[in-house]
Amino acid sequence: MTHFDAADDRDIRAGLHTDELRQAVEDHLLYSIGRPASVLTPEHYYRALSLAVRDRMQERWMASTQAFLDLSRKVTCYLSAEFLMGPQLGNNLLNLGIERQAREALAALGHDLDEVLACEQEPGLGNGGLGRLAACYLDSLATLERPAIGYGIRYEFGIFKQEIQNGWQVEKTDNWLVNGNPWEIAKPDVNYPVQWGGYTEAYLDDGGDYRVRWIPRQVLKGISFDTPIQGYGVNTCNTLTLWSARAIESFALDAFNSGDYYRAVENEVSSETVTKVLYPNDEPEAGKRLRLLQQYFFVSCSLQDILHILEDLAGLPVAALPEQFALQLNDTHPSIAVAELMRLLVDTRGLAWDEAWRITVATLGYTNHTLLPEALETWPLAMFQESLPRHLEIIYEINRRFLDEVAAKFPGDTERLRRMSLIGEDNGKSVRMAHLATVGSHAVNGVAALHSELLKSSVLKDFYELWPERFSNKTNGVTPRRFLALANPGLRALLDTTVGPGWLTDLSKLRELEPFADDAAFGAKWRAVKRANKARLADYIQTNTGVELNPDWLFDIQVKRIHEYKRQHLNVLHIATLYHRLKQNPDLQIAPRAFVFGGKAAPGYFMAKRIIKLINAVAETVNADPVVSRFMKVAFVPNFNVQNAHLIYPAADLSEQISTAGKEASGTGNMKFMLNGALTIGTLDGANVEMRDEVGAENFFLFGLTEGEVEKVKAAGYRPGDYIERDIDGGAELRAALDLIADGTFSAGDTDVFRPLVDSLRFDDPFLVLADYASYVACQDRVDAAWHNTAGWTRMSILNTARSGKFSSDRAITEYCDDIWDVSALTVH
Ligand SMILES: *Cc1c(COP(=O)(O)O)cnc(C)c1O
Repeated sequence: MTHFDAADDRDIRAGLHTDELRQAVEDHLLYSIGRPASVLTPEHYYRALSLAVRDRMQERWMASTQAFLDLSRKVTCYLSAEFLMGPQLGNNLLNLGIERQAREALAALGHDLDEVLACEQEPGLGNGGLGRLAACYLDSLATLERPAIGYGIRYEFGIFKQEIQNGWQVEKTDNWLVNGNPWEIAKPDVNYPVQWGGYTEAYLDDGGDYRVRWIPRQVLKGISFDTPIQGYGVNTCNTLTLWSARAIESFALDAFNSGDYYRAVENEVSSETVTKVLYPNDEPEAGKRLRLLQQYFFVSCSLQDILHILEDLAGLPVAALPEQFALQLNDTHPSIAVAELMRLLVDTRGLAWDEAWRITVATLGYTNHTLLPEALETWPLAMFQESLPRHLEIIYEINRRFLDEVAAKFPGDTERLRRMSLIGEDNGKSVRMAHLATVGSHAVNGVAALHSELLKSSVLKDFYELWPERFSNKTNGVTPRRFLALANPGLRALLDTTVGPGWLTDLSKLRELEPFADDAAFGAKWRAVKRANKARLADYIQTNTGVELNPDWLFDIQVKRIHEYKRQHLNVLHIATLYHRLKQNPDLQIAPRAFVFGGKAAPGYFMAKRIIKLINAVAETVNADPVVSRFMKVAFVPNFNVQNAHLIYPAADLSEQISTAGKEASGTGNMKFMLNGALTIGTLDGANVEMRDEVGAENFFLFGLTEGEVEKVKAAGYRPGDYIERDIDGGAELRAALDLIADGTFSAGDTDVFRPLVDSLRFDDPFLVLADYASYVACQDRVDAAWHNTAGWTRMSILNTARSGKFSSDRAITEYCDDIWDVSALTVH
């Protein structure tokens, strides 16, 4: 009907009206997808609409890019081995403000937006919280108009796809690129060489100064794939640059004796394998050479790119780096940046060591994400030497100077020197990446108040005593755009009409909900939204698992990576206890509950995989029991990812945040649940502490030992058996619950399958599950009682959302910008 003449072409590319968008989708179906109408599927519409939406970001993207190429403002570079971005289409429609237009445009073409959105293969380029945090931070940086580049790795295969077969986790490759990726733009012309292996040589330069050159065994290159990161309601459109490895055709063969040529080729790691697959990193770090190469690869490409922008494009001297760029290391994965930046400054640019060191420290910041000793990265010295010989020399020199500084401040304290050294001597020599990151950064932060305090008193205590001014806390946050507006359209609409839409960019505005907490009419609307979300999740679970859940029941949800410290098995012990109670007393009335679990276990993590099997075994038994299933059902949602997270968080009445105190650095799932009106049952761990402070103790179900008590119990020689054998404080119920698991009740009589789990709890219990059991079950009984008071529960639910403002990633990013990065807003026109 509408006729577009030449003057309107731009509108078909960039126009935000329904007709323009519809025309753009049709054009992309014809020109980009190239299939006749008779074979078009919703997936083709997904790609065509995505390309049309990307077109709509393009002018903003170029204007934003030009603004930071001009370096009129300082730029944040967020270096992270993981970006768990989640589906892009819905989020980009939201941030551009064209959801309604897209829905209408597709409807005009006979398609349903939701069906098309469901076609997206999400880029699962992360394991869990750490990668998702990086994604939330990119959203906030763009929305707050801060110039920023995310730098990471374009894994060809992201986190594995989880299937459940006979109750066990089965891993399938995540082939997310099979249908192409409409969001990225490949830029093979933006590429950098990355060296590997070999040896070093000293020489005197023209000025007679001592220099070192690195003769690598292998060279590959990284090419950039850029994805636009559109801010919400602003023109700022930042960039996520992901590096992909390629072979270099013109490999410098003359570096080898001719006789070594074929051996050299044989020894070569095939270049493309470097960015092939994401490591499931919840496993203990076992020096994996390819993982070190991945880290070095993306860090080297990123640093070369940053220096290219600074020196070649902006024409500034390298000394200006700290004034122009703030580089943040997301955990130790990119911490080789300390040595690589020194190499680029000293070896390739000829700077004096002291000047190079000043620049490096002033540019870098380091975020620590874990206190678990087994998760702290170290690299065996021999492997490091073989892989990055020049970097090892540089690390030795950093270490020498650093230990001199320590010795000057703490004379005679050789034990301290041993503890602080960048080189560990404990189980064979190794490079300690957390120490390298700390020494090479002007700012070090933890990710929740408790975690930051524990950092200063445990793993980084010595460093805190040396440089107290470097340490700060930056409590994590989550983006309210994705995790409320996009994931929970029902609540979004209710909030918009109640407090106005300002909450999307100022989450503290949710406080204005407080006066409605006791308003019966509002409470009814609040419950209707929650019920619809529960029905939506119940549908999804029925389709994907066959388990039927009643949306009127209490939805009690624990979704996160499966790990002993997160204690999904404590949750299972509570379920087993309720099962036991109902079996003992068929007249018992309890608040009917749906227990929902989800999460992946690292493929090599024996206990975690057995916990998944246990959850599924308990689910099968409970759901099939005619007495018990009147009051409880259990479901395990397969393949927990960002896409189904959108359905899960908004459907929770109760959020399970039950890690052993002192083990969860922050958690962000806890915040997503709170934002969506769930009440939390939790320990004083990670950000739970601050959530409880914000919402008030009376609106939070607290249980369990504190971090200090955990340490005391352990120091006194913790004996889990004591908690089983006693007849007070839940001992009898604990015994019964463990016996049910051990005696085959949930496994058709098989007494072997869960023996390793039960034995681990009975005889070792490293995460104090049994010590917290009684307190947890008593707290769950309080939850049960509270659920019976509908108005009271609704009030608490409303207050949880109302008081969740602190946990916006906008707050977190503002703190990083103000305290660490010194990066201010730049309005793009
Ligand atoms: C938020 C999120 C996580 C982190 O959850 P925690 O409960 O903080 O461990 C992991 N995976 C996905 C998909 C998420 O969205």
